[in-house]
Amino acid sequence: LTTADPVDEHRICVCVRKRPLNKKETSLKDLDVITIPSKDVVMVHEPKQKVDLTRYLENQTFRFDYAFDDTASNEMVYRFTALPLVETVFEGGMATCFAYGQTGSGKTHVSFYSGNVFIARDVFLMLKKPSYKKLELEVYATFFEIYSGKVKDGKQQVQVVGLQEREVRSVEDVLKLIEMGNSCRTSGQTSANAHSSRSHAVFQIILRKKGKLHGKFSLIDLAGNERGADTSSADRQTRLEGAEINKSLLALKECIRALGRNKPHTPFRASKLTQVLRDSFIGENSRTCMIATISPGMGSCENTLNTLRYANRVKEL
Ligand code: ADP
Ligand code: MG
Repeated sequence: LTTADPVDEHRICVCVRKRPLNKKETSLKDLDVITIPSKDVVMVHEPKQKVDLTRYLENQTFRFDYAFDDTASNEMVYRFTALPLVETVFEGGMATCFAYGQTGSGKTHVSFYSGNVFIARDVFLMLKKPSYKKLELEVYATFFEIYSGKVKDGKQQVQVVGLQEREVRSVEDVLKLIEMGNSCRTSGQTSANAHSSRSHAVFQIILRKKGKLHGKFSLIDLAGNERGADTSSADRQTRLEGAEINKSLLALKECIRALGRNKPHTPFRASKLTQVLRDSFIGENSRTCMIATISPGMGSCENTLNTLRYANRVKEL
């Protein structure tokens, strides 16, 4: 249960995680265009062509709090990102960790496949520490999704669907809850991945002291950010969903940038996502972490650059 040092003092931590080339990319001979030359630098080497058809690589460099290459394990990423925030929650703060990136880049892999389990494990470990044990904290958890869809009368509406907050007494309880949440998430969907790419999934662990809120940890698996194509889609439904996702990701960026500063024009109400997370942004002791996930392939270059630029903006104060 050791945390890495420097991020501890930051309110906002922005990290990048590159996944390995997958089988499909390898079989299509896609090139890996991303290098991580040091533990906080990401380089994109984009193949380009001059007018006289000579080829060259355009190199772009980005710096973050941490950059993880394709050899970093989920546990390693967790240790440098969400783990320091678990302590925040015990200290009575609000912590939020986002996985942001294009569909297929590894958001769910780092957040809902592993991060949630690590968080649950460490919450129950930490609960046993004498200094926290004496607080007699109760642990609650919840799991829900935010998506834009048609409601019964055909109107487009942003909906929040999921489990009620419930008390959990062990890691096993949390795992059961996650399993239940996951099955709600996929039931009735023609394609689980198509659905998850268009919805934000939120897992929360809430600490209460005699029923009163003590601290909250929110882990969010965001909708895929590759929305450019949607805005010109022939399908109205797809366009509306795409516009809604763009709106929420833009509002999110502004809300994170305003974290804990009580700025008057923070656009919490601009999207359901930021509305739901409002209390996590305004607290005195609020901290957030973004894990920007990127695909290594040349075919994903444009989306990767968009992800890195967004992450860069979140970090700039
Ligand atoms: P997203 O949620 O962003 O759409 P996923 O997390 O579902 O993407 O990842 C897509 C696929 O790539 C999954 O099969 C996942 O197991 C795999 N994957 C993602 N990140 C990694 C990684 N760092 N190492 C190995 N496999 C990964
Ligand atoms: Mg996913």
